[in-house]
Amino acid sequence: MPTGRSEFIYELQVCRWAELAWPPDGETPAHLVARQLGTKRRRWDTVVVEVDPDKLAARQPFGDRELDSDLLHIVRHAPTDWAFYRDALPHPGYPWRYVREAIHRADDRGIVHTRRNGNRIEIKRIAPYPDWVDRLIAVENKPDLDASAARQLADQLQHDVDTALADEVWVATAKTGQRVEPALLESLPVEAGILTTEFDGGVDAEAAAVEWYPTRLSATGSDDSNSNADQHSRRLELAERAYGRGWRNYDRTMRPDCRFFELRGNGRALLPWCAAKECHQSSTVCGSSCGEFQPEPPAWRTRGWPIEGGPGKGIKGLLADRAERENRPGRN
Ligand code: SF4
Repeated sequence: MPTGRSEFIYELQVCRWAELAWPPDGETPAHLVARQLGTKRRRWDTVVVEVDPDKLAARQPFGDRELDSDLLHIVRHAPTDWAFYRDALPHPGYPWRYVREAIHRADDRGIVHTRRNGNRIEIKRIAPYPDWVDRLIAVENKPDLDASAARQLADQLQHDVDTALADEVWVATAKTGQRVEPALLESLPVEAGILTTEFDGGVDAEAAAVEWYPTRLSATGSDDSNSNADQHSRRLELAERAYGRGWRNYDRTMRPDCRFFELRGNGRALLPWCAAKECHQSSTVCGSSCGEFQPEPPAWRTRGWPIEGGPGKGIKGLLADRAERENRPGRN
């Protein structure tokens, strides 16, 4: 089955491989995988979060949805006993009224206790929020790593190395039958690892090998405790997004409600397939501007075929179930 070299499909394959087999050698730690996460300045294709399973289990009381930076500020600092929120929380660096709004959101989600004491809002934690992230790994996916792709990547990777927000950065590229050209390797920062993948026979645990090992980046190298704390918070925010979103949420930007949208097996991966175009379609073409889009016939929805609720709904359900199973290590 052709998969082509669409970067989008390649990204899904790398995500699935990482889910099955991270790291490329050695013991597989508990981990979760997400895609297209980053900061304002930099977005990574694939993110692997290695976790402490016991601490991740201790995060469960805070629910399956991600906690944004405002909510994290509250749950990380909420006191064990009732206290006025301004006494309990460190100054957030922005007006307190935003903290008050976030406390209401946190209360609605059941992740902090609140009560009124006169006109003061008091808070108390529901449980300690655990420090569940061990390591963050960023992977840049370039199926065709030629000289110009390497040059484009070099600056981005150098930025990753300099900021050390991730513990390791990697480039994943498709195996060509030859070793990656030394000249290409030379144009990339020496700290970045190179992974070669072979997905032609489908995605499985053996479908990637290390071409070049990365250097472990130091996320705590600074002596400045404020900037270390800031770095720690940003890593936690990224990990929270990975936890909440995983990598299968592409159904939100594609058209699983189209009659031609299918999921097809590619080894141990399930990839989007367009029965009209007869290829693994990218998320760019499978959108509202696709000229071949046809809504799934209403009869598919009513007769419960092939999955109750119609294929579009079934596909979304299937992706959500897989995400739930794979992105909650240790729960199943
Ligand atoms: S026809 Fe267009 S909208 Fe429908 S599945 Fe194919 S690419 Fe997506």
